Amino acid sequence: MTNTTIILITLGILLAGNIIALVYSWLVLYTDVFKNLRLQDKKYKPGIFFQRLPLILLNLTILAGLTAVSLYFFADKIFDTSLPVWWLIPVQVIFIFIIDDAWFYFAHRLMHENKFLLRKIHSIHHQAITPFPLEYIYVHPLEWMIGSVGSFLGLIALLMIMPVNIYAFWVYGLIRNLHEVEIHSDLRSPISKYIPLLNPTENHDLHHSKVKGNYASMFTIWDRVFGTELKKD
Ligand SMILES: [Zn+2]
Ligand SMILES: [Zn+2]
Repeated sequence: MTNTTIILITLGILLAGNIIALVYSWLVLYTDVFKNLRLQDKKYKPGIFFQRLPLILLNLTILAGLTAVSLYFFADKIFDTSLPVWWLIPVQVIFIFIIDDAWFYFAHRLMHENKFLLRKIHSIHHQAITPFPLEYIYVHPLEWMIGSVGSFLGLIALLMIMPVNIYAFWVYGLIRNLHEVEIHSDLRSPISKYIPLLNPTENHDLHHSKVKGNYASMFTIWDRVFGTELKKD
């Protein structure tokens, strides 16, 4: 598999995740399809989608560009492109997520506890008190770049143990994207209660409404261990 093929498939997965986020946002904002699952009963501001769109598109464009350039230079040095035994995919995906989410927990917590970072960078994301799905990437560009360091650390740590399989990387990327979309949906999680330790939408939604606590994205464990878990009142 050439680096160009890897770039095209990776960008295709990124595009697919964001088309899902777009349709999901439209259904949440402009229809009553999910009305009964809403966590907060606040109304969305009229025109909010188009106010958010320029920064969302800017971030996605930079993300796609940086992804393509990084893969162009490094894909063949990082990835094993052979078809793996099936169990290798969940093992590698979970391994990358554990490191990625630990990084995200501390980086996100720092962005709250350091008032300069909160005011200059993270406050943009917190303009969303009742988020809609695409607002997962309504952030200062530096914020998602800092967040992406977790993915690199996960990949590098895995690479020190075994070759990283490209299919595991794609599955990881898609789940990470869709999970971020889901926890910004302001809708009750249909599946998270069946998956132990998976952070449900309710937790991140509460983070947006209170602007503190519940700092992790993927797992509930970090906030429990470090005492930052929010209780719903
Ligand atoms: Zn958020
Ligand atoms: Zn926050």
